[in-house]
Amino acid sequence: MIYTIDERGYYGNFGGAYIPEMLYPNIEELRSRYLDIMGEGDFQNQFNQLLRNYVGRPTPLFYAHRLSERYQAKIYLKREDLCHTGAHKINNTIGQILLAKRLGKQKIIAETGAGQHGVATATVCALMGMDCIVYMGQLDMERQRPNVERMRILGTTVVPATSGNMTLKDATNEAMRHWINNPTDTHYIIGSVVGPHPYPDMVARFQSVISEEIRNQLSEQEGNPYPDYVIACVGGGSNAAGAFYHFVNDEHVQLIGVEAAGLGIDSGESAATTVLGKPGVLHGSKTLLMQTEDGQVVEPYSISAGLDYPGIGPWHAHLFETGRVKFLNATDDEAMQAGIELSRTEGIIPAIETAHAVAVLKKMEFDPDDVVVINVSGRGDKDLETYIRWGKY
Ligand SMILES: *Cc1c(COP(=O)(O)O)cnc(C)c1O
Repeated sequence: MIYTIDERGYYGNFGGAYIPEMLYPNIEELRSRYLDIMGEGDFQNQFNQLLRNYVGRPTPLFYAHRLSERYQAKIYLKREDLCHTGAHKINNTIGQILLAKRLGKQKIIAETGAGQHGVATATVCALMGMDCIVYMGQLDMERQRPNVERMRILGTTVVPATSGNMTLKDATNEAMRHWINNPTDTHYIIGSVVGPHPYPDMVARFQSVISEEIRNQLSEQEGNPYPDYVIACVGGGSNAAGAFYHFVNDEHVQLIGVEAAGLGIDSGESAATTVLGKPGVLHGSKTLLMQTEDGQVVEPYSISAGLDYPGIGPWHAHLFETGRVKFLNATDDEAMQAGIELSRTEGIIPAIETAHAVAVLKKMEFDPDDVVVINVSGRGDKDLETYIRWGKY
């Protein structure tokens, strides 16, 4: 089975570039150049330097003793929560801003929902001295005030999207409109393995440093680069893509993606795309998405802002369809309990997105020698309010 992308930007039945005619020049420039630029020695050097000295890579692979004892398996935690800005997202924004420079762009735009990708983008724009505009739904701006102020402190202009529900989808539309009007000087940084080709492949490649490091670290710590399981949460799918990337062709490594079930799969308040979704076009690519009979996108729900997305990236749709990745899900309550459990057993308060990945340990059966890697996509600082409101600790 082939899991890689073809020249047209498809992973099996999913992917492609479903874009308005007006965006074609921007996407075509990116598509025709991204692999060459990323392959240059100079680019590689600068990317790796920044990952090491600015982001703080390699992030540790930590053997979780107490969790291992509890679940009777050898459980390792890949500590993306220790990256600068608190999550894996910066791996991608560093990569894309270096690419934008080499394409001769002076300005960056992005859209953000909860603000995590916006902050990661604002951070690298400050680092590189580039102008940055982040579009954000007006409602999201009210709900995520600290991240709005973080972006402003970093020198980014945050523009409210006031159409529709005033959330992520509307911010995406505004960003697209801006890009169509400013094709020559502006690069659009997308924050997950979603969007038209080449974004899903490009973002997966930037995030693949996660599984590259896991391989090296397991070789050192276990004498074998291959784990039995890799578990990661899936919103759009970028941390999971990074954690799976170098294992996907080794069929004995079981890959587990974890979606947010919200209040429950059948509650009408969920974000479990592989269970509830059907093929369709979302944000420029053919993928699985939650939609009504007549193709309207269904408003997703999760307690975790990063998983509250109505689709998954096209690579994940393909990995789901082929059975290469097994998808499980966790409800809000299961995730919150798992977040507290990780805090109490290992002294690590995870992002609530990550807590969904931890929650499935209870739903799996392991052999005592199984090596299990959980990708800790981010830290819980940003979620303190949610932990406090949930209150059961
Ligand atoms: C944004 C985010 C996610 C979800 O995005 P993916 O692209 O699916 O990785 C998961 N965890 C954290 C901490 C995030 O900030």
